Amino acid sequence: MAEPDASDFLRAAVSPAAWAGQNAWRCLDTAFGNGQQFFAVWDAWCRDEHRPRVLHYVGLCAEPPRFDDFAQGMAQPALRGFVAQLRQQSLDLGAGFHRLSFENGHLLLTLCIGDLSSLLREQRFQADALLLDPDPAMAAPGSRWDLWRVKALARLACRGAVLALRRDTAVLLRPVLQQCGFVMPENRGPEPSAVIRAEFHPAWALKSSRPGAVTPALPVSRCVVVGAGLAGASVAAALARRGWQVLVLDASPSPAQGASSLPAGLVVPHVSVDDCSLSRLSRAGVRLVLQQAQALLLRGQDWDGTGVEQRYPGGNGHAPGTPALWHAQAGWVKPASLVRAWLAQPGVRFQGGCTVAGLQRHHGLWHVLDAAGQSMACAEQVVLANAIGVAPLLAACSAAEPGLDTFARQPTLTKVDGQVSWALHNDSPALALSQLPDFPVNGAGSLLPRVPMPSGPAWLAGATYQPNDEPDPGEQAHHGANLARLARLLPVLAEPLAPMFASGQVQAWRGSRCVSGDRLPLVGPLGTGVDQGLWLCAAMGSRGLTLAALCAEVLAARWGAEPLPVEASLARALAADRGKPSAL
Ligand SMILES: Cc1cc2nc3c(=O)[nH]c(=O)nc-3n(C[C@H](O)[C@H](O)[C@H](O)COP(=O)(O)OP(=O)(O)OC[C@H]3O[C@@H](n4cnc5c(N)ncnc54)[C@H](O)[C@@H]3O)c2cc1C
Repeated sequence: MAEPDASDFLRAAVSPAAWAGQNAWRCLDTAFGNGQQFFAVWDAWCRDEHRPRVLHYVGLCAEPPRFDDFAQGMAQPALRGFVAQLRQQSLDLGAGFHRLSFENGHLLLTLCIGDLSSLLREQRFQADALLLDPDPAMAAPGSRWDLWRVKALARLACRGAVLALRRDTAVLLRPVLQQCGFVMPENRGPEPSAVIRAEFHPAWALKSSRPGAVTPALPVSRCVVVGAGLAGASVAAALARRGWQVLVLDASPSPAQGASSLPAGLVVPHVSVDDCSLSRLSRAGVRLVLQQAQALLLRGQDWDGTGVEQRYPGGNGHAPGTPALWHAQAGWVKPASLVRAWLAQPGVRFQGGCTVAGLQRHHGLWHVLDAAGQSMACAEQVVLANAIGVAPLLAACSAAEPGLDTFARQPTLTKVDGQVSWALHNDSPALALSQLPDFPVNGAGSLLPRVPMPSGPAWLAGATYQPNDEPDPGEQAHHGANLARLARLLPVLAEPLAPMFASGQVQAWRGSRCVSGDRLPLVGPLGTGVDQGLWLCAAMGSRGLTLAALCAEVLAARWGAEPLPVEASLARALAADRGKPSAL
């Protein structure tokens, strides 16, 4: 029998009839290798006019892929184009999950690097197709496909999912596969193919009640999002890419009038000695938002992936003199531009001047109510992405919807005001301009040196944190605090700028962050369950630019039983009900 190649696996795993017209189709490849099978599936997806709206491909590998090997043996120019696109997004692929996005976000590759058992354990989705290692040695007795790993694989299969595997592997694994619920085909043909197609049809009912089990995908329908800042707009765009009709309501007449009206902000990973959840989430978030900025915004005008220098001028647990760190995957983005771009996606509609004062569930639909109790809109799903406005809204409607008052009564969300100081280059002294770095600098405070504004380039320095329970010292005191931070971060710049700060020539932008108890966002269902239709996506804290796109992808993945963009244990750190054993 001839050695099977990627097209044999493709034929066995992908039947055009199975994925035709689906909203999402999810494929798990247990041995990503040099991506041959991924490229074959990508190519088939592009060629099929009845392709699924979103194709998820999850590739598992023990080591980061070596992209130099990828183009070898690629006869078709189209496939070489895919390799080039993949290589472009493949910066900093260490151990862990990495979400790469192609075809305007409709083809999503989740590269998972590490030990097979851990990678399987960290998945939470329902696969439509599973590709087993093409290397027959992997199925030999005592090698990687033992009963426990096949069980872990079966846990990810939806009923009817296809498993494509080598015929010789199937012979070796037949008893284990059958025990786990895979049905093997009878071999009747005269010319048996080298790759066969088993199907997941266990004789027992699949339980979705145990902790960590994946909730079946919600039917794609309508959603109302409350809040048109980074959190709401990113949720709206992520759902619309998956076919949802999304109405975004905001109290303000136009989008991005809350914290997301910040003129420009840093997009940079958080760094910690123990690589804590925030550090890992921030790396995943930076990758996602820079992909979005690249696809939707004008580089140099609305964003730039300049890289960011991280300095340690004492404090934050680092000794003075700690060498600076360079983040190549980082930069700055104008939040309002990104919000507008997300709201402009097909399937999203924005309506301003709508203050949501109540929520009511009636015959399976959520109604969002105005102050007079009139319904402004209704949908099967509602997402509250209205930052600090979440708690008063839930408190107001907890009498009518008792399940909501538990959350409303908790002091979960806090408001932390702050100020950024900024000025046009034209208004700044020449000596200061000569000291501006070419890229943003982050540390104790931050500096964005060159952000294009309507009247010319500007620098921005920030930002202050005003505790909610202390009296506000006023704009000039906040400027003073920002200058003090700048003096530690970039003393050679702070000195020539000091007279500008003293004479009131520096401008102020003020806003309020919405912060949770542990400083991580809250994403998840409110009330009684995932399918009850009321979700929260809030508490972006000081990092809405870095985290909003990630939160939106986590929410959309949980609604669609799709692969998570990060490990399940990491996504749990974002879950609104993260304290409960049932969380994610
Ligand atoms: C000084 C400062 C500096 C910052 N710097 C950075 C930075 O460098 N990088 C970074 O990533 N982040 C930064 N941030 C944080 C960032 O601005 C926020 O995390 C982000 O904008 C939050 O987005 P959001 O959509 O959750 O909230 P918002 O943008 O505040 O949006 C909430 C929306 O909900 C609406 N709303 C509220 N209640 C209702 C209601 N009942 N009905 C209808 N609509 C309602 C509001 O009108 C508002 O438009 C900074 C924040 C501050 C204050």
